[in-house]
Amino acid sequence: MSPQSLCGSLQGKKLVSSLKHRTAEVRSKNESDAPRSSRGTFKRLAGWPVHCIPEELYARRIPVPSGFNHEELFDYLLSRKNADAQGLNLNAGNSNSTSAKHLESKKDQYYSIFRSFWKGNSSAAVFGEMICENLKVSAVQAVCNKTAIDLAGEMRCSFPAFSGNRLNLEKHVLKSLAEKEDFNGFITYIRDPRSQAENFIKDEVHKYMFREQSHKAQNILKNNVDDISELVSQALFTATQEVKTQKGATDMWMEQFSSLLKDKLTLDTISCQNFRDINNFDFLKEEIEKGLGPIKTEMSCLSLDKMKDFRLQPDQILIDQLCRCCWVTCPFCAAVCTNTLEDHSPDDHNVPFHRSGSVNGWHYRNTVEMSVNFCTTNVASDNSFYPDGVSEVSVPFKQYRTAGPRFANWRITPDESKLTYWTWFVCRFQQELENYYGRKFEGKGEIPSQWRTHTKQQAIESLDEMYSE
Ligand SMILES: [Zn+2]
Ligand SMILES: [Zn+2]
Repeated sequence: MSPQSLCGSLQGKKLVSSLKHRTAEVRSKNESDAPRSSRGTFKRLAGWPVHCIPEELYARRIPVPSGFNHEELFDYLLSRKNADAQGLNLNAGNSNSTSAKHLESKKDQYYSIFRSFWKGNSSAAVFGEMICENLKVSAVQAVCNKTAIDLAGEMRCSFPAFSGNRLNLEKHVLKSLAEKEDFNGFITYIRDPRSQAENFIKDEVHKYMFREQSHKAQNILKNNVDDISELVSQALFTATQEVKTQKGATDMWMEQFSSLLKDKLTLDTISCQNFRDINNFDFLKEEIEKGLGPIKTEMSCLSLDKMKDFRLQPDQILIDQLCRCCWVTCPFCAAVCTNTLEDHSPDDHNVPFHRSGSVNGWHYRNTVEMSVNFCTTNVASDNSFYPDGVSEVSVPFKQYRTAGPRFANWRITPDESKLTYWTWFVCRFQQELENYYGRKFEGKGEIPSQWRTHTKQQAIESLDEMYSE
């Protein structure tokens, strides 16, 4: 309610009517001069809990004048305040009313109590506003970060590509590349396997959140909104009770409130120095509750897209968890070392299945003929190879480790196994590989006819040999 609108009901009518326009002037001056926050405070205090004054008077055994209701008393005191600000000398003695005289006789007492309340509650309103400003950002941030962690955790449990180690992830990357028959994706994977794995994680997380399991993802977000809202309301209640019981001050309230939130939500530090005069913590609580209303409404409309604005992203959490391992590739066939440690020296790099050298562009020197052999076959042969394009010195395959640092730390065990996936790949993308590397699968590089007998489905199924869940 507006104090002005009630002025007419005061018994000291002359006083009030002369004050009416002055009050409005003072208010408009105050509003235009005041910084934003205190202007907001002023408006907010129009709905100030006026019962507090008589309660306080009662507590101090000062009788409330008869014939004045709470609002009228509040109005009178507010008028006094504004008049004081203007240097006006008000005199309620113009009225013949007993109540007005009584009020006048007690004015200093009433007014000093009112002033301390006004000041304390102005501080509480500003302080409450600052807390809400702070919560507006940190509550949304807490919801988004927690949702990112929960989504990553959920996918780690229920999404097959993310529920094992990197080798399992790689199997799903290869499966997806084969299903899409995406040659460019293959080339990225061969040249930079980590970036292809990261692309895969990003795509799958996006699909999961926004298409295939969008309902589940939305529910996770909603639960976190409810949890954080409840946490804040509970902390507000507990901190206020505590400070009242222990007759503490603003510092104590702030400390309690922050510590109740700290596990899930980080509040920026607010210095309590200018707010030590807060004396009505119920009022502070009400102010914060008022401010929380719109924050909760805004949070209930949060979309999963909002997570992009914050530190934690579900795909990045999964990338950090799944991709922190060795990514060194075989110098012959580009197969990725499967060691789960980023740096595992002095242990050798190792991979259970190698590939045809043609996947990595190996060919016979000074010819266009691709080398289709698997490196596991080559290392058992009496052939030799040129470790790089410039050196004229060839190295026997059996001594491949002597060919330089890229070769020295690889353990390549001779065997004749050929994963169907890679023989299918060479056949399916023969043309693309020839174009990409500028070589031909001909002469010594001709593709063995039995490699052509496998279907894509068999190729995908053969990945289970590489890693079975
Ligand atoms: Zn290899
Ligand atoms: Zn390694």
